[in-house]
Amino acid sequence: MKKKIIVDMDGVLADVYPRLFDIHEKETGDRLSAEDIAGKLEEEAFPNQRRWVSEPGFFRTLPVMEGSRKVLEKLNKEYDIIVVSLATEFPNSLTDKLMWLKEHFSFISWKQIVFCGDKSLIKADIMIDDHPKNLDNFAGKTYIFTQPLNLHNNNSKHTRVNSWAEIEKILIP
Ligand SMILES: [Mg+2]
Repeated sequence: MKKKIIVDMDGVLADVYPRLFDIHEKETGDRLSAEDIAGKLEEEAFPNQRRWVSEPGFFRTLPVMEGSRKVLEKLNKEYDIIVVSLATEFPNSLTDKLMWLKEHFSFISWKQIVFCGDKSLIKADIMIDDHPKNLDNFAGKTYIFTQPLNLHNNNSKHTRVNSWAEIEKILIP
């Protein structure tokens, strides 16, 4: 039986930080860097973040994380992949995220996508995520994908991965 992997969207498949930096700069004139916000949750680093992500279109045009498409396509042959995203808190994100996946990850079928408000509802063997709140209580193997919010996280339960190339090296035999 194939192992099941939960793959996160924001900060793992979708490169959300460049967009947050852009909008923050547009609204405040201040260009932040990853170092400026290292270790801060998105909502601490960007006080207006909830308003931005509530608007239709925010998630529809995010850049694809470098290397993610190629490696996820390979993983999709070796594992049961489920893309799981916290989305139901922001109703406008639902269609945007689904259409974004359809455009950029067309090999992921609609049966492999779960939009929810709590990832602990989903059981699997492996989780790839950038947010400790999703990883900390996951029963299986956890990979923490490096993003500004988790730069100072050194929970030894999680294996840190800095790129999709690293994920490929670890998970593709
Ligand atoms: Mg994430």
